[in-house]
Parts: sequence; structure tokens; C-alpha cells
Amino acid sequence: MWVQANVGWSTVSLPKSASGLGIGSLRNKNKALLFKWLWRYGSKESSIWNDVIKSIYNTKYSSLIPQDHISGAGSTWSRLVNHCGKDTRLQNILNNNTMMLVGNGKRIEFWLDDWTDNGSLAKKVLRGRNTRLLAKMYVILSRVQLDKETEDRLVWKANNTERFWVKSLCGLLNLSPPLNTVFSFKGIWRGLVPPKVKVFCWMAIINKINTRSMLVRRGILDTSAANCPICLVEEEMVDHLFIHCYKH
Ligand SMILES: [Zn+2]
Repeated sequence: MWVQANVGWSTVSLPKSASGLGIGSLRNKNKALLFKWLWRYGSKESSIWNDVIKSIYNTKYSSLIPQDHISGAGSTWSRLVNHCGKDTRLQNILNNNTMMLVGNGKRIEFWLDDWTDNGSLAKKVLRGRNTRLLAKMYVILSRVQLDKETEDRLVWKANNTERFWVKSLCGLLNLSPPLNTVFSFKGIWRGLVPPKVKVFCWMAIINKINTRSMLVRRGILDTSAANCPICLVEEEMVDHLFIHCYKH
């Protein structure tokens, strides 16, 4: 509880390598679990889940991973599809980490699906109206070999196994922008010291220890009590306490 009191949830939920405790965002976890249902729909046409969705909503999507809802407005499924489709951050991650391997070509939507691992042809060629890209498209097409015996399939590129894992998507969603620090937080958590020492070091580095200076800011101590009790000269802040106090 004392960690919660001092450190905000946004910091605690960051990966350990980025100054957090690696708990992760529940919002991202929920998003990854929701997307799992879309992946299940797209990854196997002959699955029960795929049959259930098609029979309830009498629908057919133009893409292996549905992005635009066609029918059944207001249903759980349409809300799920819309929720994932409108999330640009999720879509960017999906664009970079999913691709479709061409088998017999029956399920892949020629213009809309990303089966060239280079974005959909609709985005690359049609929107650009670029003759150079058009020429590139012919090169791509000339390399495609259809195999009647093999189904088209989705591949999750972030895993060596090519299979989708919620944990893998969570990790990508939780990735934070690089911090302006050169400190390696990994070193703290690898140490062979008791967990309470690791947590104390972590809190010292992110400047969340209850120093006198901090307690004054929180209104727990009077401003007259902010100075270091060892040297009695300077304010007791983290840097002073561990590094700069001349009486240490
Ligand atoms: Zn001092």
C-alpha cells in the first residue's frame, strides 16, 4: 500500500525496463482480450466461433480480420469490431505485426488484406495512383504462387511461432515512449537482494521516497523540518540523502 500511496498507477503499470513495476495496463489487457475474438474469427474459417458469428449475424467480412461492421448494429459483435477498428494505436500495431500468407487465395481480399506484407494494395496502389507503385504491384503478383491444398492464413509476426498470444499484444500495447533517462532499470530487478530492497532502490531512482522534503510537500511535516537531520544544512532530498550529504 505504501508503494501505491507514493507512486502513481501510470508509473507502476509501465514495464520494468521503463521505470515501472511491469504490472501493465488493465485497459490494454482488455483490448488484447477483445481483439483475440477477432483473431479467432479470422484465423480459422472452419472454427465453431467463425460459424457462430456468421450464423448469428448472417454476415461476411471483406477481410480476415474484420475492421468495418456490416450488419447487426448495436450487437456485442459490432461493438467489438468497431472498438478495435477505431483504435488507431491498435491498428498501427496490427499493421506492423500481422500478415496473411497466401495459400489457395480463397479467403484473402485482393485489395484490402495485407497479403504482400507491405500494406494493403488499396492503400499502396489505388490511393497513391503512382505508376511506379503500380509497376511494383506487378512484380509482387508475379511472385505469388497459389497452392490449392493450403488455406490462406493469418500470421502473428511478433512471435516466432507465428501464433497470436494475448500476452504478446499486451506487451506491444504497454510499450511506452522511450524515457529521457540512461538509467538501466533492469539492473535493479535482476539483483540478488530481497524484494523490499529492490523496491526501495526503484523508488529512490524515480524520486518517490518519503524524504523530509517530500513529507513537507505532502503537508505531513512543517517546512522548518525539511533539512537533512545528518548535516542539518541542506534540504533532505533523494540525491542529497544518498549522494551529496557531506557528512556521509
Ligand atoms: Zn545532509
